[in-house]
Amino acid sequence: MKPLYDVIIVGGGPAGCATAIALHNLGVKNTLVIEASDYTAPRIGESIPPDSRELLEKLGIWDAFTAQKHAPCLGSYSSWGSDQLGFNDYLFNPQGHGWHLNRCAFDKFLALQVEKRGGALLKNTHFASLVREQHAYPIKVLLRNNAQLRCRFIVDATGRSAKVARQFNAKAKIEDQLVAVSAYFDSSDIISANSYRQMTLLEAVDYGWWYLAHLPNNKVIVTVATDPQTVKDKHLKDPRSWQQAMQLTQHIQPIISQSTPSSLHTWVAQSAIMNPPAAEHWLTVGDAASVYDPISSQGIYKALKNGIDAADAIVDWLDNNAQTINQYRNNIGNNFIQYLAQKAYFYSEEQRWPESTFWKSRQQPRQ
Ligand SMILES: Cc1cc2nc3c(=O)[nH]c(=O)nc-3n(C[C@H](O)[C@H](O)[C@H](O)COP(=O)(O)OP(=O)(O)OC[C@H]3O[C@@H](n4cnc5c(N)ncnc54)[C@H](O)[C@@H]3O)c2cc1C
Repeated sequence: MKPLYDVIIVGGGPAGCATAIALHNLGVKNTLVIEASDYTAPRIGESIPPDSRELLEKLGIWDAFTAQKHAPCLGSYSSWGSDQLGFNDYLFNPQGHGWHLNRCAFDKFLALQVEKRGGALLKNTHFASLVREQHAYPIKVLLRNNAQLRCRFIVDATGRSAKVARQFNAKAKIEDQLVAVSAYFDSSDIISANSYRQMTLLEAVDYGWWYLAHLPNNKVIVTVATDPQTVKDKHLKDPRSWQQAMQLTQHIQPIISQSTPSSLHTWVAQSAIMNPPAAEHWLTVGDAASVYDPISSQGIYKALKNGIDAADAIVDWLDNNAQTINQYRNNIGNNFIQYLAQKAYFYSEEQRWPESTFWKSRQQPRQ
């Protein structure tokens, strides 16, 4: 293993791989991605919007992506603010449709694109900690297997755990406490009358919201998002209680057969921003930089975009120009402020349960 790198990227999800690919495209070849997993465990986040195409083209991986045969996503339909279903389709989007991803396959594909460009990528390898020292390669990285590496610049792409940024004493500012609990069903558990297979279904309930999406590997994901206290009160981590709550939905329930899910996955889904998201010798990308509510379906798009923008900033920084990194940091903050306003607007569209703490705590104050 080569111990000296210009850039080490910790985390080989969408944000980390996009950063590595973009750096290679800009001529920074001496990079290493450190990835804890082997891309086999389930990963959350499956819908990407049509505009993702621009980013995949910019990274130079669009043709390879289309060969992957992820499922087209034609938009969403939702019961939000009303019992009736409303449609929000991509019919007139100039970029065409979006996608429902096989998420493990997508992340593995991105890792392969890094390697195809000659980038080093270590799977099953855990970042443990780092030390800053007087050295031409001042960041010393310690791995869980006790190996040591050095770099000039380090990228935190570890997702919401932000393991690298925390080593620099950066702190996440958490804006809400959303939790999501998901079940994966086989397509055989689906009642075939559901004619909108290529759309995401969203349904608001008094304590939160549910979504259902068809995935390309003959799977269907059904998720409930709510506050941690409601997860406790309704025992939503228990498959039977989860199933009972799902049976009370108006639009999701008729699509899924009676079968209780064999297992559930719980995900932290808080909105948050890292403070600061970048400084000397390091920056954050993707969820490590800022986390958006899954209702936005923007997490993967933002991860890819951050990776592309971060690569520009790092190239300039390696060239002794810190200005682009300052802009990058400001953009993360400004985009997060805009996102919070959009989120409050979106939640305010649901006014059926004025006494519900879930909804009240997320809505714009009434003028
Ligand atoms: C319920 C839910 C639904 C969602 N739905 C959508 C959706 O439909 N569309 C969408 O765009 N987004 C969605 N998201 C958000 C999306 O999942 C994330 O925004 C996206 O995965 C962020 O990518 P990332 O690369 O920043 O982080 P991650 O995907 O979290 O990748 C981080 C990587 O870092 C690695 N890592 C962590 N620690 C270490 C370590 N110590 N050493 C080495 N490697 C490490 C991990 O193994 C992982 O590969 C959803 C999120 C939730 C919770």
